[in-house]
Amino acid sequence: MKLFLVVLSLLLLNLVPTQNRIQPADVVFKNGTVYTANDRAPKAQAIAVKADRIIFVGTNAAVQKYVGSQTRVVDLHGNTVLPGFTDAHQHLSGVGFREMTLNLEGTTSLDDLLAKVKARVDQAKPGEWVTGRGWIETHWQPPVFPTRWDLDKVSPNNPVILGRADGHGAVANSAAFKLAGIDKNTPNPFGGEISKDKQSGEPNGMLLDAAQGLVRRRVPPTSRADEERAVVLGSKRNVELGWTQVQDAGGDYDDVEIFKKLYSSGDIKLRIYKAVYGPGVNANRLIKDGPIIGEFQNRLTVRAIKVVSDGALGSRGAALLDPYSDAHDTSGFLTVKTEQLRPMLIDALRRGIQVETHAIGDKANRYILDEYATALRSVPRGSRKVADPRWRVEHAQIVNPIDIPRFAKLGVIPSMQPSHAIGDLFFAPSRLGLERLQGAYAWESFIKSGVVVPGGSDAPVERGEPMIEFYAAVARKDPKGFSGPGWHSEEAVTRAQALKMFTIWPAYAAFEEKLRGSVEPGKLADLTILSADIMTIPEAEILKTRCVMTVINGEIVFEKS
Ligand SMILES: [Zn+2]
Repeated sequence: MKLFLVVLSLLLLNLVPTQNRIQPADVVFKNGTVYTANDRAPKAQAIAVKADRIIFVGTNAAVQKYVGSQTRVVDLHGNTVLPGFTDAHQHLSGVGFREMTLNLEGTTSLDDLLAKVKARVDQAKPGEWVTGRGWIETHWQPPVFPTRWDLDKVSPNNPVILGRADGHGAVANSAAFKLAGIDKNTPNPFGGEISKDKQSGEPNGMLLDAAQGLVRRRVPPTSRADEERAVVLGSKRNVELGWTQVQDAGGDYDDVEIFKKLYSSGDIKLRIYKAVYGPGVNANRLIKDGPIIGEFQNRLTVRAIKVVSDGALGSRGAALLDPYSDAHDTSGFLTVKTEQLRPMLIDALRRGIQVETHAIGDKANRYILDEYATALRSVPRGSRKVADPRWRVEHAQIVNPIDIPRFAKLGVIPSMQPSHAIGDLFFAPSRLGLERLQGAYAWESFIKSGVVVPGGSDAPVERGEPMIEFYAAVARKDPKGFSGPGWHSEEAVTRAQALKMFTIWPAYAAFEEKLRGSVEPGKLADLTILSADIMTIPEAEILKTRCVMTVINGEIVFEKS
């Protein structure tokens, strides 16, 4: 009895002040299946939100005390609620421009590609450029790159350049080559390659990595209004798919001004964590001005530099330690100059700037780990603005197994894109041979080694849909359920891990794990609400699941009608 009284009085002592503190919520979400990504309280039914913050997470019964006369109560009818999804690697304006130019996603064959180009050319004025992006030949019969002579058949006069989905290659027609002044004697630029016909030695139309610039600089520049429209369209698409933040992997510093304008006018609501390209003018400006953190109600942060250290696997631009298995004369190429990279890394450490480096091949991954290690050694913790700088490797696709533990040792984060694996694994065995696939797209090995793996889509390289990424991470099969030799199904992750890949882990990779990334009182109220329970339904049904509501800063920014 005595014990009972002690317990009762303790309870009362706790309850009285708590109840006095309870303020009615602005919005209460109830009857949900909530997965919080918070290991201490992984599941819940209801959430109360006041202004931009979560103030309560718990049961339907307990949330009632937050319902006041002004509170909006949203009945979720059992729908699934997740912490607001984050795309840890995307190219936001690229997603918008994909909507605005010739969108070649899903092109099924060379004939299909040519038909789409012809339709556009027929509408173009004489001499007008036709640009597009998104084709990928992997599933074509035969799976070979288009040539300029193919394009000449449908566009003999208008210059054409069409980016491969991965962005690391493009095909242009003869009219474009003529304007750019490229012929068989034009040397390859640094970090790029003008592909040649094996017999004649003539350029065949394919331009890899930096070589694309030879033609692209002839294309009339996009206007500022176009850039703004692309960001608005890209943001809209993201929010409708359930992304609440995108980590924008590269771009010019000028993009920041566009974002600021669009936030001020209320045209975009999506959170953006921006990296600018370096080494060079954009990185120099960020290093000089210092980071921007949490402007526009924690929507805009600019504190990272994006470096590109090699090309991509599909176009054989990824830098490998040994030659390609299906092209013994090449092992790809590095695309960054060490003498420019090194001083920038030192400055970034001193100024508290994060560095994230695109590295696909095993050579590029080893190279950037070595360079990161050298910089970290030469600027001791006490001389850094941010002691643990959380530098990242974007893609970390083909990593020699002996290099995997180095990420954890150096505190480097591998930022990876599940959909790359389920597309690339169709051609990766021929590019690399089966043995080198050990350590390729090795999500589970990375997690086991003690690092977090933020997940991204790399859109417009991939479609940019959260359900495709989540499915790819847990199934590691193509959308039809196919998996082949060398796909290493043991590298698939659990659903609980996949949830973290798109929520709390990207938050950590952005220094925001205390602010967002899980459904917990005190955190920003970002929610992704889905039509089905992706934590329990059969794998194939994940791809049919749709976003029904997106909440950012407590505001419902998208609701499926
Ligand atoms: Zn990318």
